[in-house]
Amino acid sequence: MASRLFAADVDVLIVGAGAAGLSAARELMRLGVSFRMVEARERIGGRAFTGASLGAGFDAGAEIVHFADRNPWVGIARDLGVTLDGSGWRMGGWQVHANGQPLGMIERGRRWQAFREMEARMERVAASGRDMSLADAVADMAPESREIARSGLLLVLGEDGVRISVLDNQSLWSGPDLTTTSGYGALVEAYGKALPVSLSTPVTAINWGSGGIEAMTPRGTITARAAIVTVPVGVLKAGAIRFTPDLPSGHLAALDGIGMGALTKIALRIDGERFGLSDGSTLMEATRPEAMTMIELFPNGKPLAVAICGGDVARDLGAAGEAAAISHITALLAGMLGSSVRGAVKAGRLASWWHDPLARGSYSVCQPGRSAARAALAEPVAARLWFAGEATGGGGAMTVGGATLSAWQAARACAASLKA
Ligand SMILES: Cc1cc2nc3c(=O)[nH]c(=O)nc-3n(C[C@H](O)[C@H](O)[C@H](O)COP(=O)(O)OP(=O)(O)OC[C@H]3O[C@@H](n4cnc5c(N)ncnc54)[C@H](O)[C@@H]3O)c2cc1C
Repeated sequence: MASRLFAADVDVLIVGAGAAGLSAARELMRLGVSFRMVEARERIGGRAFTGASLGAGFDAGAEIVHFADRNPWVGIARDLGVTLDGSGWRMGGWQVHANGQPLGMIERGRRWQAFREMEARMERVAASGRDMSLADAVADMAPESREIARSGLLLVLGEDGVRISVLDNQSLWSGPDLTTTSGYGALVEAYGKALPVSLSTPVTAINWGSGGIEAMTPRGTITARAAIVTVPVGVLKAGAIRFTPDLPSGHLAALDGIGMGALTKIALRIDGERFGLSDGSTLMEATRPEAMTMIELFPNGKPLAVAICGGDVARDLGAAGEAAAISHITALLAGMLGSSVRGAVKAGRLASWWHDPLARGSYSVCQPGRSAARAALAEPVAARLWFAGEATGGGGAMTVGGATLSAWQAARACAASLKA
């Protein structure tokens, strides 16, 4: 293998062409380092994907440009002539329904109070520096408020509080949220459009032990001096890429400490009805806290309803399949808006990232007590193997912005190492 590696004709192999892979490619190009990028899917973008199969585009994965004050995608969008906006998103008003009834102001206020109590407890844990699960952090709240508070985070993190590290959660950046009417997935696709990539080329094994990289794919073996692996943590944990020799114990421990949430979207095409709602109206179905579902209607005036749920309920919904998921969301909407919903729903799509073998979850969450895992995973292996992507995005973890920042960092470190 050593002699074949000596003959490697690319410097860097990039595995995966989502936001991280595309960003690594752009950065290596800027630095004059040769690369080959391979992607298992038939498209680029990974978990940033704007689907058009319902006749109107919707983001099946990433939608919001978070922490816009430091998100690199603000500048990328500007360079690509794509307008980001903070005004149009979910601005049609909010309703919360439980047991078939809209909640009044007092009950809604009680819910906000539960979220505030949870936030205060998480801040206390962060200040103490002693990690615990989100569920433990809110254990002393009144039972009903506790369940309400936990249900809110299901929609943000896609995972139940028992599997979430408070320290990691509190280290994540916040800031202004922006969106684009043409879709975040479409923006990521535009960023990567001109880059060379071998699609439908999954890497199944990587040998990294003999002075370089040898990567196996169904289309042949690729040799390189180094590799930047950007596949999701869920894919790494499932063993979809066999590493030889085994990854160092620190990296294996890091993977053990990071899980994947199950944020799931179900989009419905709705024709001929508006139910008296404004564009961008948001309905929360909150009868069962563990099954809290948020449904945005007519985003940017499109004839769509896009539902989001998370945690084990979302896993079960994904396992039940697209038809079952569509009828479940249709039934929830009918319970809130009336039976005319049933006739207005013309089609639907389920984006169950948990069941997608090339994602195996929506985005990474650190297990309680394992908040150092992201940094450990980002450590280079033998100065020739880097892991990048949302999971190693530091304060930007879980997001497209974090994926890009981590990939730029890995690309620079990798280039410096090759030039040393
Ligand atoms: C429902 C949902 C909502 C979200 N909402 C937001 C949001 O509003 N804002 C936000 O910033 N982020 C959001 N995210 C998270 C965001 O989508 C991700 O953080 C980001 O897209 C991750 O980029 P990445 O490059 O790290 O990984 P990915 O986009 O997953 O890219 C990895 C690539 O590797 C490929 N791959 C996998 N296995 C192999 C293999 N063996 N060989 C070769 N290629 C392989 C995959 O096909 C994929 O294209 C959301 C995610 C989901 C699922």
